Amino acid sequence: MTDTWVIVGASRGIGLEFVRQLLQNGQHVIAGVRSLSKADQLHELKSSCTVPERCIIEECDITSDDSIQKFSNKVGEAVTSGLRVKNIVLNAGILHYPNRATEISFSDFALHLHTNTIGPIICARKLVNLHPESPPCKVVFISSDSGSTTVFRDDEDGFGAYSASKAALNQMLRHMAAELTRRGGKWKDTCVLAMHPGEVQTDMANIDLGWEVKGSIQADESVAGMLKVIEQKDETGSFWCWDGRRHPW
Ligand code: NDP
Repeated sequence: MTDTWVIVGASRGIGLEFVRQLLQNGQHVIAGVRSLSKADQLHELKSSCTVPERCIIEECDITSDDSIQKFSNKVGEAVTSGLRVKNIVLNAGILHYPNRATEISFSDFALHLHTNTIGPIICARKLVNLHPESPPCKVVFISSDSGSTTVFRDDEDGFGAYSASKAALNQMLRHMAAELTRRGGKWKDTCVLAMHPGEVQTDMANIDLGWEVKGSIQADESVAGMLKVIEQKDETGSFWCWDGRRHPW
């Protein structure tokens, strides 16, 4: 069996950088993207890989139950043909700035929740339940410091729906961790982690926010740090920063 990573939300930014570093390290990757026709950088990355077969690209629109199911079926087929899912990274996310509690529309709030909370949880649920006989894996949710209720920043205007969606993600992933532990068997060794990637210079920060975040880092530094954390941490239901510091819930 060949170990593989599943990265969902891999067309650009942090997700694309995960795929780049994993391929560089000789790993196998199944990359999920919202639309196969809007993932040029990922297709180029695959083509430039010395062994392009190590990168499988599949569609996964995280806001669609049907798309998540089809993606999960494709991952299941890959497992049947000899891949072992070692790590799953739920990275897809949106931030429509500003998203103030006093101004948010029903549809924009719903879109933040579908993309940042419901989709990642449903996708993870389907993937961890694939092939009950296969060994346990790590499930990593790319959350945010904005989702922490402990370090609530009331001076940070315009992040209401985004923060709420990441806080809800944090709560659901903690339930997932606890339920899997109680389920016993191989499930108790499935490790569920939340990660804050840092303030990273991606389209989300540069275009969506429209300002350069103070103290921000590049995606390569963030992902290199997160890969180390994912390898080292095995306490299920825990929350970490990209640089290995524990993050408060
Ligand atoms: P980007 O905006 O650069 O990339 C977002 C990624 O999510 C893209 O690949 C995008 O795909 C994908 N995505 C969005 N909606 C969907 C969908 N419906 N289905 C599938 N994929 C989708 O953002 P980042 O790389 O910065 O963010 C990655 C994650 O990190 C997010 O979860 C974000 O909340 C989190 N984060 C980022 C921080 C930062 O400073 N950058 C700070 C804290 C957390 P497409 O190209 O199709 O739009």
